[in-house]
Amino acid sequence: MIDFELNDEQRMFRDMTREFVKRELTPEVIKEYERQHRFPDEIIKKMASLGLTGDIVPQEYGGLGADWISHGLISEEIGGAWFALCLAIQLVQTSLVEYPIVKFGTEEQKQKYLPLLSKAEKIGCLAAVEPNVGSDGTAVECRATLDGEYWVINGFKTWITNGSVADTSIVLVQTDKSKAIRGLALLFVEKGTPGFSATDITHKTGVYSTPTSELRFADCRVPKENLLGEVGRGFQNAMAGINNVRYSLAAGCTGMIQSCIDACVKYAQERNQFDKPIGGFQLTQEKIADMIIDAEASRFLYLHVGYLKDKGLPFNRETSIAKIFATEAALRASANAIKIHGAYGYCDEFPVERSFRDVMAPTIFGGTNEMHRLTIGRDVLGINAIR
Ligand SMILES: Cc1cc2nc3c(=O)[nH]c(=O)nc-3n(C[C@H](O)[C@H](O)[C@H](O)COP(=O)(O)OP(=O)(O)OC[C@H]3O[C@@H](n4cnc5c(N)ncnc54)[C@H](O)[C@@H]3O)c2cc1C
Repeated sequence: MIDFELNDEQRMFRDMTREFVKRELTPEVIKEYERQHRFPDEIIKKMASLGLTGDIVPQEYGGLGADWISHGLISEEIGGAWFALCLAIQLVQTSLVEYPIVKFGTEEQKQKYLPLLSKAEKIGCLAAVEPNVGSDGTAVECRATLDGEYWVINGFKTWITNGSVADTSIVLVQTDKSKAIRGLALLFVEKGTPGFSATDITHKTGVYSTPTSELRFADCRVPKENLLGEVGRGFQNAMAGINNVRYSLAAGCTGMIQSCIDACVKYAQERNQFDKPIGGFQLTQEKIADMIIDAEASRFLYLHVGYLKDKGLPFNRETSIAKIFATEAALRASANAIKIHGAYGYCDEFPVERSFRDVMAPTIFGGTNEMHRLTIGRDVLGINAIR
């Protein structure tokens, strides 16, 4: 049975994040960072002082030890204010980097990485995708070969969030092509390792303040013990993190829909045309009502996934449903928010312009919505549409 009430701790985390957003993430502050395409490290430090950069990490490793519902609520608040920040921290630092270390790291690796990552004293990224390897994520070409006590890495990764600012990258590599998926492994690569470089993809559509990078490995040598988990489990272990990203994305996009509603209600009450507020026109009310329906549905869908995750129940199909619904609902909401703001929505004076630019990324990142539809189809039909 689902209990629809949040517990005291979940409410406390949500309210603390809401307060933080109100105090620190003002539209003026965000606008300045976005205009300069600047990574918000000062803001991230402030989040870290509240534990918001390591919410799901156990307390013994410096995190908050929060449950997945709390993580979702935090992601909704941050995603609503500033999706790029949510992407860098809730989606990548927490769900994609910290979680696989919690789950698959050795005790030594947990002690080495988690306290620093969860306090954002170090930033992380996870690099799976490559120029020729997107949706077909097991076809990894980036190679790692053992040479004595070292792995030698050669190849490329692309579209990697936090890539150029990351102190630690977790990289999906192929150790033996003949073994296909059973040759895949995850390796830690530290910033500054000879043979490793990262450059940013410029002129992106959105998420201006979060770097999206290309990584290059040319005879890059990392110690043998930099292996995260086992050789042969690299893809599954990366997917464990990517599954969390999908959940955090659904929550962050719910926040994006909510912020479109808040902006539109205010604007529609203030803006007059034909001698009355535009909110008085039925076509405006329809758009806002549709956003409210979408926000409510998205919220229930992601909280259901959080509930399943916290209970240790299967959640794959439900995560795909929540990810598709929330990201496409956010796409509808941000397009309608621009319409309601008219020309004023077409510049960065109002935050709806940023939502409209940022919103396509979540439909692609964490697996495209097409691939998620195939996951749902396979689950219900028992037939794999791909192979
Ligand atoms: C802002 C941003 C941040 C990202 N951050 C990261 C990151 O931190 N780490 C990381 O590893 N990756 C990251 N990515 C990469 C992302 O995960 C990939 O872009 C995504 O998995 C899709 O791969 P692709 O872009 O190569 O598209 P492709 O796989 O080439 O797909 C192109 C189109 O074909 C469709 N398609 C492909 N195969 C099928 C099929 N079998 N059936 C039907 N349709 C199909 C797709 O749905 C899509 O519409 C990021 C991407 C973006 C945009």
